[in-house]
Amino acid sequence: MSGNQTRLQAIDQITNRAPLSFEKTKPLNQIWATDVFNLQKMEDAVSKNAFKAIKKTVQTGQALDATTADVIAAAMKEWALSKGAKYFSHVFYPMTNITAEKHDAFILTNSEGNAINEFTGSLLIKGEPDGSSFPNGSLRMTNAARGYTAWDPTSPAYIQHTANGATLMIPSVFMSWTGEALDKKIPLLRSNSAMDKAAQKVLKLMGEKDIATLNSSCGPEQEYFLIDENFANSRPDLLFAGRTLFGAAPAKGQQFDDHYFGAIPARVQVFMQDFEDKLYKLGIPAKTHHNEVAPGQFEIAPYYGAANVGADQQQLLMTVMKQTAKEHGFLCLLHEKPFAGINGSGKHVNWSVGNSTQGNLLDPGKTPHDNLQFLLFCGAVIRGVHKYGPLLRAVIASAGNDHRLGANEAPPAILSVYLGDQLEKVFADIQEGKLTDSTNGGEMDLGLEQILNFERDPGDRNRTSPFAFTGNRFEFRAVGSEQSISGPLVAMNTMLADSLNWIAEKLEAALKTQDQTAAVISVLKELMELHGNAVFGGDGYSEEWHRAAVEERGLKNIPTTADALPAFKSAEVIELFTSTGVLTAVELASRYEVYAEQYNLAIEVEAKLVSDIAKTKIYPAAIAYLSELTHASASVADLGIELDATITKQVAEHTNGLLAAVAKLETEVVKHDFADVEAHMRHSADVLCPLMLEARVHGDALELLVADELWPLPKYSEMLFIK
Ligand code: ADP
Ligand code: MG
Repeated sequence: MSGNQTRLQAIDQITNRAPLSFEKTKPLNQIWATDVFNLQKMEDAVSKNAFKAIKKTVQTGQALDATTADVIAAAMKEWALSKGAKYFSHVFYPMTNITAEKHDAFILTNSEGNAINEFTGSLLIKGEPDGSSFPNGSLRMTNAARGYTAWDPTSPAYIQHTANGATLMIPSVFMSWTGEALDKKIPLLRSNSAMDKAAQKVLKLMGEKDIATLNSSCGPEQEYFLIDENFANSRPDLLFAGRTLFGAAPAKGQQFDDHYFGAIPARVQVFMQDFEDKLYKLGIPAKTHHNEVAPGQFEIAPYYGAANVGADQQQLLMTVMKQTAKEHGFLCLLHEKPFAGINGSGKHVNWSVGNSTQGNLLDPGKTPHDNLQFLLFCGAVIRGVHKYGPLLRAVIASAGNDHRLGANEAPPAILSVYLGDQLEKVFADIQEGKLTDSTNGGEMDLGLEQILNFERDPGDRNRTSPFAFTGNRFEFRAVGSEQSISGPLVAMNTMLADSLNWIAEKLEAALKTQDQTAAVISVLKELMELHGNAVFGGDGYSEEWHRAAVEERGLKNIPTTADALPAFKSAEVIELFTSTGVLTAVELASRYEVYAEQYNLAIEVEAKLVSDIAKTKIYPAAIAYLSELTHASASVADLGIELDATITKQVAEHTNGLLAAVAKLETEVVKHDFADVEAHMRHSADVLCPLMLEARVHGDALELLVADELWPLPKYSEMLFIK
């Protein structure tokens, strides 16, 4: 792929393509988790005691002893060899959104010169990739570049097949030699245990005796675009930046919304079924797939599960999706905004917390007692969204997501929480003191009738809310489609831990003088007085909300990554992460550096592509057309007729405009001497982005002027509609 195929060649290739043939899909029971070394396979392969130990680790996160690790390693090796694996790899998740792998062979030679398959507990547990080239945000001096990966026994190992071999993949954490987290998994595991600890306190205060370890769950919905690879081959911007940096709006876009849940094109359905079979083999429970709002856009949602495993599986899903798309002659676009003016892609992260003894604590349940616990956990989320709104905005910040958030199609860049009418009223009543316990002599005889029969699936949804309660979970709807979901999960778990700690302290004091119901209501009343401003059920896209949120509610509207990321440096956020033990101040600071660098890098790549495409693709087309026009004009003049020069002038003017914008962009993009990353981010957001847009205005105008057959870049209507 070079991006050099011409547009007309691309169309020709696609319209004359020979259909690819694919294997028929297999029944679920023949393929489900065949490539995963899950608990069931361990149970079959190891002793009862070893299995008990590993199961406990998986369910509670408790450390595994070395002897059991050896036993598991041996069983894992046997299983992997039986699947044809010759290699193993620790899979880890650096602070970028990628998945990293270091492959090793199982081989060991002995003194007789024979080679044997070797894999011990210690190899399973620890790996040592040369970590020096992974971003670490100045966490490691270059002379201490050592990084370690360590097996995460709570996320199952699996087999990765390639055309001629197989590798055992072992989900792992990645840390520095000095033990600092360099990845996205360590904080997720830590945030889960911080949330568990805090939730245990609250549940104990509520009189619960038997409380199993609490875990967070997630069900991510992934939106994506598929376009024919031939188009991608003609668009360096799609290949190297994942989005179109030029492209005029098509005559028919998504105005009719006729694509949403429409019939899935056959070629895409073949892709989906193949893709999902691959997911099933990997034990990823793909559940729903459908067309999305934009033409060429689709969604896949696996069934929810433990957050740590869900996050790993989500990374794997993206890898498998891109790979499978390639096999089907598609390019899978995960970018948040591949096409300007057309709906972008997000990831909705559905999130809840619970355990085996109390169940889902975000499920309102059927009895008042459950309701009280539910109200506390729900209140804790409200407080979290309010107090840590800027953090939630920061963890979804990326160059790509900036095009989506705040534009009138996706959640606004203001973090608020949607509860649904019924629940919103309950919390409003609590805040106003209308819902009080009878022992307090309040206006209402409690029993909490209002929410006894709480609707589990409220009919109305608020698509404009970035953070919505949806019956038994919250849905963080503003997450970027290309992002790892770990960051958002860490932020949610950690803010919940902090809120539950706050609640536990208040509740403990209140219970000294009040009965349980009165105490809960009084704590929630205080919580709502402090944080109720985050609750919003109206239209999140409206101008009025953008004004009121900021002016009347004191919420923050944070439009770009450059505005959002500095939240990581705020005293409040440092205190949040250090007090809960999720990240040290140093780890947090390094994350800020890495994310800021990623943002600057993304913008820099785009800026260079803009000037490249402008000069080597658009300019030559414009000049060719100008030359045709001027030739024609001269010939016509020979006949004594003056040809209307409107188009010639417009082409010439936009060509000059394009070159002028590109010249400015080129002067700015080479600047790198900034005081700090924040100043650099400001330059990216305030100087480079507007200049790219300026160039685009002229480029897109030229697309609508230059003769169709001369235009080099596949047009929106072609990419979105031709399959
Ligand atoms: P919608 O598009 O209406 O939001 P989907 O069915 O596409 O619904 O996606 C809902 C997602 O939420 C699925 O991944 C589902 O498994 C997940 N989910 C359902 N219940 C929970 C829960 N209690 N905790 C976390 N995720 C959940
Ligand atoms: Mg959804």
